[in-house]
Amino acid sequence: MARIVAQPYMFPRIERWLALCRDHGIFITITSSYRSSEKQRRLYEAYLARGRKGLPAAAPGNSLHETGEAIDFAARFNPTYGSRRGTDAYTYAGRLAEAAGFRWGGRFTRRDPVHIDAGVPWWGGD
Ligand SMILES: [Zn+2]
Repeated sequence: MARIVAQPYMFPRIERWLALCRDHGIFITITSSYRSSEKQRRLYEAYLARGRKGLPAAAPGNSLHETGEAIDFAARFNPTYGSRRGTDAYTYAGRLAEAAGFRWGGRFTRRDPVHIDAGVPWWGGD
């Protein structure tokens, strides 16, 4: 798992979320946390270059990754845990993140199911 770089206040929530995922048989890999504005700019330019397709990236200066208040993740079900029909691992993990106090990007207008953050729930953007 990548080292998590985030605001100190994020960590109790992250630990609560990871414990919930563990209890529900979901494996989580953190793929991104804090990003410099330079890194965010490169991601945003790549997003524009691919015609705004795929996972969205906010313009530099507009991402909670730049303030250490957002996490991107990969999720999969633990196959030994039993089947969970009717949902996918990202939706399941996203709902558990909401239960832990995060906002889940799967509800954004530009859907970003790999993203959770500490923003207030206004369901607007990424
Ligand atoms: Zn993100």
